[in-house]
Amino acid sequence: MRTQHAKRNVLVVGAGLAGLACAHDLAAAGLPVRVLEAGDEVGGRVRSDRVRGCVIDRGFQVFNTSYPQVRARMELRALRLSPFTPGVVTHTGGGRLQRLVDPGRRPREAARLLGSGIAPRDLAALGALCARDMLAPAALLRRPGPGRTTRAALRRAGFSDGFVEDFFRPFLSGVFLEDELETAARVFHLVWRSMLRGTLCLPAEGIGAVPRRLADGLPPGTVRLGTAVTELTDEGVLSAGDGEVPAAAVVVATGPGPARRLLPGLSTPPYRTVTTYYHVTARLRGRGPDLVTDRARRFLNTCVLSEVSPAYAPAGTSLIATSVLGPGSPGTGKALREALAEVYGTDTSGWEELAVRTVEEALPAMTAPWPLSRPSRRGPGRYVCGDHRATGSVQGALASGARAAREVLADLDR
Ligand SMILES: Cc1cc2nc3c(=O)[nH]c(=O)nc-3n(C[C@H](O)[C@H](O)[C@H](O)COP(=O)(O)OP(=O)(O)OC[C@H]3O[C@@H](n4cnc5c(N)ncnc54)[C@H](O)[C@@H]3O)c2cc1C
Repeated sequence: MRTQHAKRNVLVVGAGLAGLACAHDLAAAGLPVRVLEAGDEVGGRVRSDRVRGCVIDRGFQVFNTSYPQVRARMELRALRLSPFTPGVVTHTGGGRLQRLVDPGRRPREAARLLGSGIAPRDLAALGALCARDMLAPAALLRRPGPGRTTRAALRRAGFSDGFVEDFFRPFLSGVFLEDELETAARVFHLVWRSMLRGTLCLPAEGIGAVPRRLADGLPPGTVRLGTAVTELTDEGVLSAGDGEVPAAAVVVATGPGPARRLLPGLSTPPYRTVTTYYHVTARLRGRGPDLVTDRARRFLNTCVLSEVSPAYAPAGTSLIATSVLGPGSPGTGKALREALAEVYGTDTSGWEELAVRTVEEALPAMTAPWPLSRPSRRGPGRYVCGDHRATGSVQGALASGARAAREVLADLDR
């Protein structure tokens, strides 16, 4: 028997974006809600540390202003956002950079596309893809055949194999953390649309400012840090420090691994691992806020973070983030410095490796067919949310938390 006190109170396990969004919607509906978080800060995968005056995000991430969940939940101005250059820069070899600007935002640079060496067929296909993905109703983009991969979608869009290899494959490997363009086509189209419609940027205080803003919007005392939930019980949950905490409903928002342990029988997709290397050096001159990918695919992308947001590094220094697929290895840092010497056209032997961040369960492998949303109900009083129930993104995690809250509310009102 549940106690009277616990009749309508909800426990959310995990203060990542999904858990925070869920708690926010439940609190807004007037339910007593608590969030139990194992870590010493909110944010989960979206956190930032300070290392010797630099902002070190837990893996390179960008903030996209077009995500509907973000726009609905946050005052963007408060994040003091700084934008990346719109478009993509590809390192084609030997220090040569090919710029593909977004002509919609940089019309004066659009003419350069014609002399960029990209075949007219690929430029035409790119124009058509961008127009369609930006303007078509989202329902249409969700529709591609269930088995269609990103590679198949790009072929259908009329791109040459060479352009797919040289441009899309290096760029999208950094977006989806996979190297084969096997992500479901519908996920690709929606992400492409979000990039065309929004601005990619960084908050001045680091990406961790995003969940901190969400947590600030909760009633005081809602989030309890340093509280790992070890088990779900008939009454509620068992936590390492507090013993049994009763609840009418429990929402597991822990990320995939812990969710499987807390909810036996839950199936989650395989996840991708990524490692980001952070280097500092004296200020690099003549760099812009560019996201640079590598045609040779020695890394996913590299970027001088302090050129995007000067608050990321002390004055007179540059902070460079470079990511690779997988866990990295002892030789990776040295090999990267050699590749970066070519890309940035400078001697990198003196660059200091300030931090390395590996995230093992970084993004779900969103292979086709990928349902864009999965129910949260797991049984009476049991719910699950997180990016593995939607899409591996800030938008997906927040939307999944919102969905869990709707299902809890519907059940408790019944
Ligand atoms: C390196 C990297 C780069 C990314 N780049 C982007 C990007 O550019 N754009 C984009 O949209 N998305 C990006 N993503 C994806 C996005 O960050 C995630 O999809 C999203 O943050 C997932 O949120 P979540 O709430 O589902 O899970 P999580 O963030 O994993 O949150 C789970 C929380 O549960 C807590 N927890 C776990 N076990 C317990 C327990 N037993 N008891 C209590 N608490 C527990 C954890 O400590 C954590 O705080 C990136 C992710 C990574 C890792």
